[in-house]
Amino acid sequence: LPEEFEQARPVMQRIEQAGFEAYFVGGSVRDTILKKPIHDVDIATSAYPEEVKHIFNHTVDTGIEHGTVMILDHGKGYETTTFRTESGYQDYRRPDQVTFVRSLKEDLQRRDFTINALAMKENGAVIDLFSGLKDLKNGIIRAVGDPQARFNEDALRMMRAVRFSSQLDFKIEKKTLAGIADHAQLLEKIAVERTRVELEKMLLGDNPANGITQLLETGLYKYCPMLEHFKSGLAEIVTLNKWDLSNDTEVWSLLCYSFFLEGKQINDFLRQWKTSNQVITDTTVIVSAISSLLEDEIIPEVLYETGRDRLVSANKISNLFGGELTTKEVLEAYDNLPIKSKKELAINGGQLINGAQLNPGPMIGQTLQRLETMVVNDEIPNSTDELMSAAVKMLKED
Ligand code: ATP
Ligand code: MG
Repeated sequence: LPEEFEQARPVMQRIEQAGFEAYFVGGSVRDTILKKPIHDVDIATSAYPEEVKHIFNHTVDTGIEHGTVMILDHGKGYETTTFRTESGYQDYRRPDQVTFVRSLKEDLQRRDFTINALAMKENGAVIDLFSGLKDLKNGIIRAVGDPQARFNEDALRMMRAVRFSSQLDFKIEKKTLAGIADHAQLLEKIAVERTRVELEKMLLGDNPANGITQLLETGLYKYCPMLEHFKSGLAEIVTLNKWDLSNDTEVWSLLCYSFFLEGKQINDFLRQWKTSNQVITDTTVIVSAISSLLEDEIIPEVLYETGRDRLVSANKISNLFGGELTTKEVLEAYDNLPIKSKKELAINGGQLINGAQLNPGPMIGQTLQRLETMVVNDEIPNSTDELMSAAVKMLKED
């Protein structure tokens, strides 16, 4: 058992000693069996929230209306959720009603895919009511129950299926895939932020090309923000060499570059997807650096404007499109820049005003910017004296 499960065992044992059942459930069981690292440990129990709170001295109501109580034990928190069924789903996304139940089976039945519907006792014994182990072994994503009904209940599950097929490099079972194709349009009912998280996880997965292929084949892409306009761009991405992106910004940069988006178009695209402003800024800078790096020429101003981390991202993506510069070459050039930021310029506005006897105004900023560019391009040494005389000369000429 993974360390995270070992640590949680005493908590589970106490629930059992109080006469209830407790199991590890969800992604952590799936990932443990796949020998992958696990993130969050989810515990499901037959005890009702009030009963859980009665057993432990220290708990926090993290989602008590859904049956979730966090148990605090030796400085760690364990999310415990009462077995429940869900019903309603009037809006294709959230159940109208959750009902606490005492039966593990009913709880597992509401889960999305067989590989996510396994339970594990604290001693490691696996409870497998929907042949999830077999599907795990064969690399198959299969809806629990009737796929048509399950996607009709909650349309996010379709994106989750595609995401898992990329993350785990699994195939989506035939009827499950057909269920997605039939219900794709319902994805429009889902909050963009939730769809976005799934798309990001998908493109950061082990086999993202697999995920994109499924998006295209099921038609799901048409109901993602703006993607219907980029069918050929998506198809092109599938043909790229295997890639390994490190974060959301790289995901969006790859997409924007593939879709030939620039400047304001990037902004419009990412606003539709409701990414953060930071992602928008970084993506805009990275995409413009990719174009430049693809010329296989290292331009100091581009290095300077892009910055170290974003250069690594940009070069990684440019390599996918045939760029031949190595990250080492690019970073060496970056590290050799005379200055890395405006702060390092050996002159500032105040010095310029005093030295050249100027009045404050827009001229100051413009002059500083020209000096900055000259230093970055190695046209002038970064020394206060040199910069001052260059500034005086420039201002006279203007
Ligand atoms: P991750 O590795 O991304 O955390 P996960 O499978 O743990 O994957 P979570 O969103 O953490 O996904 O959900 C935990 C469990 O809850 C899932 O394994 C699944 O059993 C169930 N689940 C989550 N979302 C849904 C859903 N939309 N419909 C049905 N069951 C769901
Ligand atoms: Mg999880």
